[in-house]
Amino acid sequence: MKNLIDKLEKEHILAQSEFEYLINNRDAETDEYLFQKSSALSRKMFGNKIYTRGLIEISNYCKNDCYYCGIRKSNACCERYRLTKEQILFCCKTGYELGFKTFVLQGGEDGFFNDDRLCDIVSDIRKQYQDCAITLSVGERSYESYKRLFDAGANRYLLRHETASEEHYAKLHPESLSLKNRKQCLYNLKEIGYQVGCGFMVGSPYQTAQNLALDMLFIHGLQPHMVGIGPFIPHKDTPFANEKPGSLELTLFMLALLRLMLPKVLLPATTALGTIAENGREKGILAGANVVMPNLSPKNVRSKYELYNNKISTGEEAAESRHLLEQRMKKIGYELSTDIGNYEGF
Ligand code: SAM
Repeated sequence: MKNLIDKLEKEHILAQSEFEYLINNRDAETDEYLFQKSSALSRKMFGNKIYTRGLIEISNYCKNDCYYCGIRKSNACCERYRLTKEQILFCCKTGYELGFKTFVLQGGEDGFFNDDRLCDIVSDIRKQYQDCAITLSVGERSYESYKRLFDAGANRYLLRHETASEEHYAKLHPESLSLKNRKQCLYNLKEIGYQVGCGFMVGSPYQTAQNLALDMLFIHGLQPHMVGIGPFIPHKDTPFANEKPGSLELTLFMLALLRLMLPKVLLPATTALGTIAENGREKGILAGANVVMPNLSPKNVRSKYELYNNKISTGEEAAESRHLLEQRMKKIGYELSTDIGNYEGF
């Protein structure tokens, strides 16, 4: 085990069978050895600074029907909302005053936000906050659409690939969605010039160690600037209501492997990680994550953007409680940064 971790640290890649072996044979001793390496590497790359992103959940309307997701089209219990341009700009203003230099506009695939409307919002944010990054996370769109949004001023895009196995992808999504298109979107975004983030849920239904090993190889091939991973957490009004959640331990293990594979990658300790365990995000940082994404959405919509049950949204993960998050980070020897937090070289 330790020799494989040393190899990953040195060569930044392993064979599929080696990743599988590591994932299948985890134990406390290996965890400790791995976390020591991944956290030292993260420290070397980023010091004790944690980048912050302000997350604005712009709409929970979605035309897709992913089996795991609480805002899926078929969930009739989901109370739908959509922010206005004024509300989104107000979130940015609040965030800027709180010290955020990245705004992440995330939402379901909502046809209302066509290119004209979204470009209009993006270009207004860009005009008002030239020293900030604008990250979009609004799903699959055409090459032309991504290009227009980029030209309007967006510079990062998050689109989790969800799983790199065709077979597994088909167990998580209806037939109308394909892994091929998802991957193509990621390649297009990269070609256009975005800083690109892919990612997956840990412990999603039917996931195997082989699937996770394939995720690692796909990510290595893509060489993304960001990777978002978090545990799968069931939502009561989805087909996966009775499935088991992903584990904290395996999520931390995957975060650490990702840090060793891609030393420079921007790696968030996600809200889902903070939801399954009280100190989930701190543990994520100690395993090699270097980004947190507090919630900047208007308070009255936060509970409606419910991708999974019990999603945290009003404690230290709320952007307005930045000082509380700061205290939490201090306790583990880290500081929140007010830097824009680009991928090195951008
Ligand atoms: N619609 C955009 C997209 O598809 O990229 C962005 C929003 S989507 C809800 C954001 C991410 O939430 C998904 O990529 C998925 O990995 C995650 N997610 C959805 N349901 C989840 C669940 N039940 N547990 C954990 N994560 C979930």
